Amino acid sequence: MSELKKAVVIGAGIAGLITARMLSDYYDEVCIIERDELPSEPANRQGVPQSFHPHRVLPRGGLILEHYFPGYNDELVALGAIPSHEEKFMIANRYGTLVNMANADSSFKIASSSRALLEWVLRQRVQSIDHISFLTSTEVTGLMTSEDQRSITGVYTKERGRDNREAMLTADMVIDAAGRSCKLIRWLDKIGLSVPEPEVLKVSLGYSTRYYKIPSSIQNDWGTVITESDPVQGIRAGMLWRIENDIAGLLLFNAGGDEYPSTQPDEFQEQIKHLFASDEIVALADQLEPFQGPRGYRISESVRQHFELMENWPSGLLVLGDAFCSFDPIHGQGMTVAAIEAETIAKCLNEQRMHPEPQFERQVLLRMQQAIEPAWWLSSVADLRWKGVEHVGPSRMKGVAFAQKYINLFTKQAMKKASQENNKHLFFTQFLMNALILPPSEYFKGEILNMILNDNGSEEEMELRAELGVQDPELFQQRIDEIIPSFQLEFDGQIKKLLETFQHAMSK
Ligand SMILES: Cc1cc2nc3c(=O)[nH]c(=O)nc-3n(C[C@H](O)[C@H](O)[C@H](O)COP(=O)(O)OP(=O)(O)OC[C@H]3O[C@@H](n4cnc5c(N)ncnc54)[C@H](O)[C@@H]3O)c2cc1C
Repeated sequence: MSELKKAVVIGAGIAGLITARMLSDYYDEVCIIERDELPSEPANRQGVPQSFHPHRVLPRGGLILEHYFPGYNDELVALGAIPSHEEKFMIANRYGTLVNMANADSSFKIASSSRALLEWVLRQRVQSIDHISFLTSTEVTGLMTSEDQRSITGVYTKERGRDNREAMLTADMVIDAAGRSCKLIRWLDKIGLSVPEPEVLKVSLGYSTRYYKIPSSIQNDWGTVITESDPVQGIRAGMLWRIENDIAGLLLFNAGGDEYPSTQPDEFQEQIKHLFASDEIVALADQLEPFQGPRGYRISESVRQHFELMENWPSGLLVLGDAFCSFDPIHGQGMTVAAIEAETIAKCLNEQRMHPEPQFERQVLLRMQQAIEPAWWLSSVADLRWKGVEHVGPSRMKGVAFAQKYINLFTKQAMKKASQENNKHLFFTQFLMNALILPPSEYFKGEILNMILNDNGSEEEMELRAELGVQDPELFQQRIDEIIPSFQLEFDGQIKKLLETFQHAMSK
């Protein structure tokens, strides 16, 4: 334990819980302030309205969670979650259907559960740490500052309930993890700080989720079915999977705001018929017993703040999770990105201990930006395929059209190799990048480009060649370096080990 005294975390969502656990290694006292009364069992709550919908943790996030909450995955499974590393996967897209795509490495565990159960398991762990306390049914309403307003010294709070009592809580560090509804920009404005223009992805996305009971007659016969979207043809994405115990979920998604997935049971069942692999999904859904939903969720924008550009960013203040950068949830990145950000803060705190530097908080924000750049870019590239989706920001997003065409051809070849030659190498390479384990530079690569540009003059190949603009393979890498952003993904020993394990499993 160091000389750092007290930290306050705003919000007991997933980002807040991971952050509080991480901070407990550095601070004598950590207090989580949460506006909700926290349930005494795994249950959805008002402050996180998205918790009705599926929440999957990507492998990179699972790795970080396992570090901060060792054995959390086994605990989830003991409470009814499904050990999805043992499950069969079926994946369908415009290039065909792959069945029995079990996880590449079954020694890496990741469980499928409801968001409520995951939050419950993490919260129980955090609550058992002596120097972490919870202040619930209490809303943070503003920031306390030093006289010169250069430092944040605590927060103003208001109890929720009959008497709405107001109070102040001092802290050496305040971390805002209040999610999409965070009020940080308003609070900064109140102390005279204006924030830079954020990047906004005008995504206009819609979810609709329906839950079913799995009858005992088909308990073990099936696994997760993921059907990808085809924005050009207006085909939605869908997913049918086991959540926990005998509950399954079926999700429909599209972006672009054209026609959202229906929340009417009959229309919902009808819309399933227009997915890829619809025969398989319909056949499975027909055997399940509907019991909740369909319920919708709509998001008009994903927002990436650029607080790191503020030279006058105050000391004693950080922000992470959806409050810092929010994502289209279909890519399953939000909780993993929050975990990456918490891990980045920990690395910075370690370095600060050894070599204290001025403007520590701004440096942390900058490092977090670098760490989340691949997630933001990859999900934007995917969403910008939908008509009506638009990126707005201080600068144009790099490499979007080229990346979309590259991914199309790569996906086509990956599906072909996996189904016709039982070679899953390309398939898992793409999976690992989307899981935020493999840096994009290992996927967008001259030698891979040379390999995939061998598709007998297909439409995908011609489109990619047109974007590329050079014929000579010797120039491919140089061209990629010009087109694709240069990511500075932090690649530590743990990720390398996980990557090696996956690559070893792929070579079998
Ligand atoms: C429909 C949908 C599906 C999703 N699916 C996935 C998925 O599959 N995988 C994935 O990784 N992510 C998914 N996400 C994203 C995920 O929910 C978030 O990225 C993740 O939970 C991290 O969010 P957070 O902790 O920053 O915010 P939240 O989880 O929203 O938590 C914020 C907390 O702050 C509290 N709070 C807010 N304001 C105050 C205040 N002033 N004072 C005190 N407390 C306050 C709230 O009550 C809440 O508890 C999904 C999101 C949506 C909308």
